[in-house]
Amino acid sequence: MSNVRKDYFSEDFVLFTNEKSTKISNLKKLVNKKDCPYCPGNEHITGPADLVLISKEGTLAKLADEPEDYVKDWTVRVILNKDAIVNPDEEKIFTDYPQYSEPAIGYHYVVIMSQKHTVNVSEIDSEQWTNILTTVQDKARWLYAQKHVSYVAMYMNHGLKAGSKVEHPHLEVVSLPTVPPVIESEAKFMKKPMREKGICPMCDIIKEEESSKRIIKKTNSFLIFAPWASKHPFEYWIFPRQHEVSFVKSTQKGISELSEIIHSSLESLIKTLGVVSFNLIIHSSPEKKTSKQIHWHIEIYPRIETKTGLEMSSNIYTNKILPENAAKELAKNIKK
Ligand SMILES: [Zn+2]
Ligand SMILES: [Zn+2]
Repeated sequence: MSNVRKDYFSEDFVLFTNEKSTKISNLKKLVNKKDCPYCPGNEHITGPADLVLISKEGTLAKLADEPEDYVKDWTVRVILNKDAIVNPDEEKIFTDYPQYSEPAIGYHYVVIMSQKHTVNVSEIDSEQWTNILTTVQDKARWLYAQKHVSYVAMYMNHGLKAGSKVEHPHLEVVSLPTVPPVIESEAKFMKKPMREKGICPMCDIIKEEESSKRIIKKTNSFLIFAPWASKHPFEYWIFPRQHEVSFVKSTQKGISELSEIIHSSLESLIKTLGVVSFNLIIHSSPEKKTSKQIHWHIEIYPRIETKTGLEMSSNIYTNKILPENAAKELAKNIKK
């Protein structure tokens, strides 16, 4: 049973997944290589994958596991998460303000990014990132065709400090019944200048940052920079330089250039900070509500500090590292 409860005062909501066990030790346990459900040979633990990418003589094929018959030598596997935060067959119970709640209907997929069980994600090369990202696009496209899907969240939690309980590199693709407040607020920021002047304010920001001290790298189609008001030390964002609203609709050419830039940026991050926990989040326009459009991008938050009382209580962040200094380090360590 999962449900969404809305805050008394704000638009913030909380997803309750109602774990059967309230034992804290179970909630905090990290799964390492010894009993990793995502490692090759352990496919039976996760159950059949509904999408398996395999590479055969240089071409990729999409397959699916049969019950008790698992595809071997896979490149990427997509499974339903056993600890899903949303479920497709949730009971349709709604309650009203001030105890507003709605059923958390949706699908929670895990994309197992590689056969390699590694905490150093720079070992995942750009070619593999292309396989991963096209699989994510595939799954997101399918999700947007389903009922009760307002938004598809695509994100990676890596390391215990980033909220991941499994070391093995994986990405999550989760359909949500509501557009997340962060996307709502980005879309709101975009709306007025887009409607009144036909100008994308995020395009303007990118142009400014291209010649700022916060630039990390620029390629033909992408810009990596540390944002002006970085919430986390060494936070950086990856933006398409041309106006594009949808990651899901990004072309093969775009995805392969993006893969190179993700790979080299993570390599630089690890060179700079060592193996580190991080979140990687894709912000893309909801494919269903055309009025809520953003300029899609990726945000990466290294998690070297824990949230303090100020952050938890007032949403005011403190950051010891200026983005200009973070960008300088990351730029120095990134492959030219
Ligand atoms: Zn593993
Ligand atoms: Zn734009």
